[in-house]
Amino acid sequence: MSDHKKLYNLRTWRRLSKQYRLDNPLCAECQRQGKVYASEVVDHIIDHKGDYSLFWNKDNLQALCMPCHNRKTAQENPEYIKLKKAPTTIVCGSVGSGVDKYIQSLLKPDDVVIDFDSIYEMISGCDRYIKPKKLFVYVNKIRNFVLDIFSQESKVNHVYISMGVGDVAKIKAMQDKFEDSKVIILNTDEETCYRNCKNSRKMFNAPTDWLKLIRQWHDDFNKHKPMEDWIVKG
Ligand SMILES: [Zn+2]
Repeated sequence: MSDHKKLYNLRTWRRLSKQYRLDNPLCAECQRQGKVYASEVVDHIIDHKGDYSLFWNKDNLQALCMPCHNRKTAQENPEYIKLKKAPTTIVCGSVGSGVDKYIQSLLKPDDVVIDFDSIYEMISGCDRYIKPKKLFVYVNKIRNFVLDIFSQESKVNHVYISMGVGDVAKIKAMQDKFEDSKVIILNTDEETCYRNCKNSRKMFNAPTDWLKLIRQWHDDFNKHKPMEDWIVKG
């Protein structure tokens, strides 16, 4: 904690700010805009940056609600302003449809890729096509945690989410989680998907019935109509 942040921990300040809010129960900024909102914090009108006289000067204080305070802080700190919700692209397809390659072809610096298989690989130490069943629940938890982080304001450029499910409702739910998101479906035909699996030595060695997985994805996807704003390739 920087020295001037410590000022807020002083009992004198806590007492002063508590009294100030009691005396000023409404948000000053909201009042200026003709709105009535309860104050939640005491703000220094001019950023004190550790300057004692500015810190303790009652004329430099105003009571604000949290939204007004956050807005003001963002304007004072350019670092804050850079935070925004990153545009998000959700890329869906069955195994062998080329989702990984497709995302790789779009990546730029400061982009983020959220991919279930990579998380599996990370925590199991196994090859990405070998997925110890007991770890599934934890991989899922980690993925949800990462999704939560990047559905909020951040400094990243673009978020890519790789999805291996074909269930239209699940894809839609993911899209709803991210404000500015688009969906691209790689509806690669089953034969090509299977050929890609066979041609990948790593996949070929994994004890998995790829054909069954590919069929499953296409069955799921064909059950419902995709949303109108989705891009369906193939
Ligand atoms: Zn306010």
